[in-house]
Amino acid sequence: MKVFIAVDMEGATGVVHHDQLMPEGRGYAVAQRYLTGDVNAVIAGILDADHEAEIIVGEGHAIMRNILLDELHPQAQVVVGPARPANKPLCQMEGIDGSVDLCMCVGFHSKAGTPGGLLAHTFVGSVVCNWMMNDKAVGEVEVDAAIAGAFGVPLGLVVGNHELEHEIRAWHPEVEFVSTKQTLGPSAAICRPPSWTRVALRHAARTTMERAKDGAFKPYHIGPTVTMTIETYRREMTDRAVSEHGVVRVDDRRFQCSGPTAADAFRLAWRAIARALDEPASFLQ
Ligand SMILES: [Zn+2]
Repeated sequence: MKVFIAVDMEGATGVVHHDQLMPEGRGYAVAQRYLTGDVNAVIAGILDADHEAEIIVGEGHAIMRNILLDELHPQAQVVVGPARPANKPLCQMEGIDGSVDLCMCVGFHSKAGTPGGLLAHTFVGSVVCNWMMNDKAVGEVEVDAAIAGAFGVPLGLVVGNHELEHEIRAWHPEVEFVSTKQTLGPSAAICRPPSWTRVALRHAARTTMERAKDGAFKPYHIGPTVTMTIETYRREMTDRAVSEHGVVRVDDRRFQCSGPTAADAFRLAWRAIARALDEPASFLQ
């Protein structure tokens, strides 16, 4: 079997605070170890079920150079590097294609606007205050599942913060889910140590593989066309986003990107968000 593992960081073992999420933060180096341990545990579980599995890991958080390569399981390959559209038009899903049999999402968090959600946001916390997919508010895992679905690939396992389970089960009741921590608020949680999560993740990944072989998971298809409607925090961000060809303005702060599949709509949305982030130099502001 060929498995694609999309990896974010806010839902990784022990990660609760912004100072663990970027290289300049005090807790980043330790969080990299926790994250790499989570990914290795999932890989070990995949290989328990299929020792010849082909595994592609998609770095999906911020600078997208977070996993410690020299500690990663030798049977995996990793998609490394930032998600500028010229590099990775599918952002954290770059590397998936129709040859993949199963997708897993590891280290994820609840969507922007989730009350009390731990490090909750949707793709770009400084820009996106709400992301809709065909008129439904969605988080990153649901968008990623729809992108995987566009390639005929089902989502089997999600690992993340406990309140994410409620968000996922609403549209994917069959999913295998492991919570790494019990959320208390936006930057605090009751955490399981790596010695617990690594056992739980390995077991869950193995179970997910066995369930997948039995046909438990179906590709997430929406359509026949997909429209992403993105609301930004400031009018200027939407002004810049709609300068991307094909992007449609809805109102002051909302714009729309459509395509025949979620992957097509996402590629356009990601280019629009890159434009939204493109602030003029300070002397021109
Ligand atoms: Zn992230």
